[in-house]
Amino acid sequence: MPKEKHKCVGKMRKTHGIGWNQCFNYAKVERDGKWYCGIHDPIAWAKRRADRDAMWEAEQKMKRDADSAISRRRVAERKACSSFSTEALESGAIKELVEAVDGAILGFETLDEQFLPKLEDKKLKHVHLVAMTIVRDLKAALAKLEEPK
Ligand SMILES: [Zn+2]
Repeated sequence: MPKEKHKCVGKMRKTHGIGWNQCFNYAKVERDGKWYCGIHDPIAWAKRRADRDAMWEAEQKMKRDADSAISRRRVAERKACSSFSTEALESGAIKELVEAVDGAILGFETLDEQFLPKLEDKKLKHVHLVAMTIVRDLKAALAKLEEPK
């Protein structure tokens, strides 16, 4: 701390009227022969400005990312739903379809457990094989639809 108390050379906007007053604070630091308080210290001022700019930039990036996530979602929804009528989508037909497929898989798997050991006929064994291939494909398709955890 300087022995002699300097006043800050910074300027403050007048609270009433137009123009500037000299800062009322005592100086804390000397920069290039001029004295400044903590608020008007050009280095602290520049750091605050840089922090504010960085914060603003981060906020803008977050907004852009959110916008792009939303628009990605909309494009994906449009693509996924383009072949279905609005009425079908509104009635929840897609969810019903998923539930029906889920039920079909469960039904096939139950049949599989109950009847596979008893199958003797070669043609029936072939039908069973085809059915289980369909079940496998349906399960793979449903797994893709599950929300990521
Ligand atoms: Zn000042």
